Amino acid sequence: MTKRVYNFYAGPATLPLPALEQAQHDLLNYNNSGMSVMELSHRSKEYDAIHQDASNLVRTLMKVSDEYQILWLQGGASTQFFMVPQNLQIKGKPMEYVNTGVWSKKAIKEAKLYGDVTVVASSEDKSFSYIPNYIAFSDNAAFAHITGNNTIYGTEFFSTPKTPSEVPLVCDMSSNIMDKVIDVKKYGAIYAGAQKNIGPAGVTLLIVRKDLLERVPENVPTMQKWSTHAAKDSLFNTPPCWSIYMCKLCLDHLKKQGGVSAIETINRKKAQLLYDVIDSSNGFYKGHAQPDSRSLMNVTFNLPTPELEVQCIEEGKQRGLIGLKGHRSIGGMRASIYNAMTVEGVKTLTEFLEEFQEKHQ
Ligand code: PMP
Repeated sequence: MTKRVYNFYAGPATLPLPALEQAQHDLLNYNNSGMSVMELSHRSKEYDAIHQDASNLVRTLMKVSDEYQILWLQGGASTQFFMVPQNLQIKGKPMEYVNTGVWSKKAIKEAKLYGDVTVVASSEDKSFSYIPNYIAFSDNAAFAHITGNNTIYGTEFFSTPKTPSEVPLVCDMSSNIMDKVIDVKKYGAIYAGAQKNIGPAGVTLLIVRKDLLERVPENVPTMQKWSTHAAKDSLFNTPPCWSIYMCKLCLDHLKKQGGVSAIETINRKKAQLLYDVIDSSNGFYKGHAQPDSRSLMNVTFNLPTPELEVQCIEEGKQRGLIGLKGHRSIGGMRASIYNAMTVEGVKTLTEFLEEFQEKHQ
């Protein structure tokens, strides 16, 4: 294959071509060091500059104040499912969660290992097709937790639920970090596996309010304490240097595109193109998410029969439109259109979907 395809996989996902080309350029000889980034010591000045740049880019792009620490961790977002309760639990206080899908449920399951969990709102009654409107966290909670974007169902929070002033809001933004402008100050902690919107697999971004680091109970293992990593600026042990370097390149590219507000405009346009095809298809394409909860990142839909879905995915593949199969838990089709997916890629997909409908309805 000499030509790049349009990659709609949910993650790991498409990356910006300029970032990949820069990595290719640097692969054998980074910045005249005579070494690949993969060969650099994590204590070298060359790597340190990459590390600092990556964190500074997160700070700039998301307007993160000095009150917060930026950490690069390992183990994926799934590791934060248990590190969040490990680090933020308070004896005798419930941990409060909103259940908006498979990833919320996995987070809830882990939290239950550490204490009482209350699910304060859920959209399970309607196959997780919406974001609950009414969410009330209690004054007494140790922390509140939401999943910012539900990768499998294609729903997303567009406003930040309010928490009582003493209750930090924690958000899993694995599939929508930096897809739109948010106010970081409304959150106690934000975490995201990098492999969808900001880089390759292998590293997890955590943005955490510094005062919360003091909560971490003494008996938590060293590597599982956020405070361990904060004290050493994510260099307590060997970090995933290459993944962090790739995140730096991807974030550099995002900055050059005009940052998060510019990409939000593009993301809204891309999502609209696809939702318009669904809405004007006279029911041939049936969106899973309710319109006011529709994700900018993962567009989920069904065709009239499972056979047509298989055929559509196959024909799409032949046209260079890859990764359109829905998650096994809900089936159907899913187009993941993260920051690195171009408008051109989405237009190619919408043209294909319109043609497919013409032929098969
Ligand atoms: N949260 C969300 C919203 C996800 O989409 C995913 C992965 N698809 C995860 C958590 C798990 O991430 P990881 O594979 O990095 O553990």
